[in-house]
Amino acid sequence: MKKAVFPGSFDPVTLGHVDIIERALPLFDEIILGIGVNSDKKYMFSLEERVNFLNETFKQEKKIRVETYTGLTVDFCKKENAGFILRGLRNALDLEFEKTIGQANFEMAGIETVFLIASPGKGHISSTVVRDIKKHGGDYGFMVPAIVKP
Ligand code: ADP
Repeated sequence: MKKAVFPGSFDPVTLGHVDIIERALPLFDEIILGIGVNSDKKYMFSLEERVNFLNETFKQEKKIRVETYTGLTVDFCKKENAGFILRGLRNALDLEFEKTIGQANFEMAGIETVFLIASPGKGHISSTVVRDIKKHGGDYGFMVPAIVKP
């Protein structure tokens, strides 16, 4: 059984995440959406909201499960018996950032990271921009699934 963990903050889930997750579905038997909880980090949406957004967005999809975790992503993967990490790449900055993490994760645990490149027209979408628009009272609906829309 091929299992992947897609780790992230999902603060909030965006149509960019949805693009990567849906395109990865044929590659795996199960994809676990792992919301990493970092007590040093400030989030805009509560953990309950972020879990609910993901559960609602993918409620029809039997191969997807939503979980939260603390600590190292590789330890969470081992606990879940997942051999792969799924990540998305938007640009060269993402690649540089992801490269070292992917290499470290492979060295630490032999877990491969599978990267999918953002679909055309999706690479500009980011949770950071959504949070910024929200903070200033703008409409961020075009970047997020229906359940997240204001
Ligand atoms: P983190 O807080 O770990 O950066 P995010 O929730 O922001 O978590 O992102 C999780 C993953 O989703 C990362 O691999 C990121 O590159 C990817 N991702 C985010 N937005 C997009 C997008 N628009 N297209 C493709 N991948 C994306």
